[in-house]
Amino acid sequence: MRNVAKTVGFAVVVLVIAASGTALYMGERRLEPETPASTGLFEPPRQTIKTTSTKPVSETQKPRKLEDASITNPEPVAVPVTVPVTVTVSRTAAPNLPPEPTASPARHLRIAIVIDDAGVDRKRTARAIALPGPLTIAFLAYAGNVSSQVKAAKAAGHEILAHVAMEAESYEVDPGPNVLLRDTEPAVVLKRLDWVLGRFTGYVGVNNHMGSKFTSDAANMRVVLQELKRRGLFFLDSRTSPLSKGETIAREIGMPSASRNVFLDNEPEFEQVMRRLEETEQVAMRNGSAVAIGHPKDATLVALAKWLPAIAAKGFTLVPVSQLMHHPAVTFAEKGAVKSFP
Ligand SMILES: [Zn+2]
Repeated sequence: MRNVAKTVGFAVVVLVIAASGTALYMGERRLEPETPASTGLFEPPRQTIKTTSTKPVSETQKPRKLEDASITNPEPVAVPVTVPVTVTVSRTAAPNLPPEPTASPARHLRIAIVIDDAGVDRKRTARAIALPGPLTIAFLAYAGNVSSQVKAAKAAGHEILAHVAMEAESYEVDPGPNVLLRDTEPAVVLKRLDWVLGRFTGYVGVNNHMGSKFTSDAANMRVVLQELKRRGLFFLDSRTSPLSKGETIAREIGMPSASRNVFLDNEPEFEQVMRRLEETEQVAMRNGSAVAIGHPKDATLVALAKWLPAIAAKGFTLVPVSQLMHHPAVTFAEKGAVKSFP
């Protein structure tokens, strides 16, 4: 009897030990998948390890702007202390793991560079076309030989916009023929718009040339944007006025639109343009993307020739501006895509 009790007692002890062992084991195991899962929310699995190893860096030196972005760039950067971290380190390192939003710039930072007023100065327009792309080039309808210039720009891989002249507050600069004026009948506005859009083909959207007065008028903008929407075009608001109603109306009527963030060459000197390009990078780091507008001017062309080849290494992707449009459908699609990352 005592022997039986002993045996049973022993068996119970063995069971308890075995059970707690399993529990411990499971506990350990459970920690492991958490690592990829928590980072997986922010980026595809391939980058997971990098984020983990980048961690200590972002801890000691706050969101270090460019450096962080370049580290997560798929290019193999050094520092691969890529210890198969997830093994046992996970328990001790666990408190450090929750990724901060700023530490996930594997979301690529996109920049669109738009060259406005193209076509009139053919020589400098040709130089803009020769820059590394894809740029977005906005042609003025009254430029000479506009169709062949557009053709050359498209052949070089750039995106084309129709640059539509709209009335400015100031009359110091001649906006060119058939400018859209604020105090005209909608029928006249549409007729002029039709003239501009009929001068050449190959554009995918429109942005305004000047227009500080015209774009601040909601009724006029509604007439223009409805027509652009009907033609399947998007609208890039150059934002020549802080009062522009462009993007508000575009969103209201449900058409794709975006707004310019930075003007590159209001002061057309090399250093100034470089500074504006840095500002563009900062906007992209803050918002995920940025739209900058420049012109076929010497300073701008020289600065871009220097800046464009260097941006990929800094973690930025140059995109045509059509890829930065806000559109209800696009937003919806993007949300769906995010969901598919568990
Ligand atoms: Zn312009």
